[in-house]
Amino acid sequence: MLRGPVVSRIRFTFPFAAGTVTIAPQSFHRVATAIEAGTVSLQVTNTFPPGVGGQYISGTPNTLQVAPLVGRTEEGLLLHECTHAIFDLTKTQVTDNEDEAAAYVVDALYFRMTGLRRSRWNAEPHATAGGVADDLLRQYQAGKVRIPPVDTGLWATLRRTVMLDPLYIAGTSGILGVLFGTGTGHDG
Ligand SMILES: [Zn+2]
Repeated sequence: MLRGPVVSRIRFTFPFAAGTVTIAPQSFHRVATAIEAGTVSLQVTNTFPPGVGGQYISGTPNTLQVAPLVGRTEEGLLLHECTHAIFDLTKTQVTDNEDEAAAYVVDALYFRMTGLRRSRWNAEPHATAGGVADDLLRQYQAGKVRIPPVDTGLWATLRRTVMLDPLYIAGTSGILGVLFGTGTGHDG
């Protein structure tokens, strides 16, 4: 799946303190290679706290915990966690808030590209990330830029939604983390 046809269409850039971050199919291929090499350990489990669909924990080895891939929802959430793995493996110094926002854009792109009904993924921050994904899909269609940037206004809205989300508000992706520019281990 990480080297599959849907992932091969996922691509965007977003701004961060040190410039521009690019998420492209190669980013996911790198995670696949890391899983094969054992640098990232894949654990399939159903025991997550409420509101959590997967977890990425940076460490030795790094651990990617996901639900059994029974459908597009779980596949999208796997890609969400893989996005955290990408930043960790590439040591990209994004803040945890940017890290989380980008992961939501990836899962929303996957849900849109596979035609998963919106009512199945209308919980926040997925729904707001859907707006960023819609705009990216319009840019893919227009075909003017090979790897389009996220819309800055929609991206700011998504980052705010992540910041205020009950799941993240007290953590490094939340208000304090954003205020102090915390970037830690790409867990999330
Ligand atoms: Zn996350």
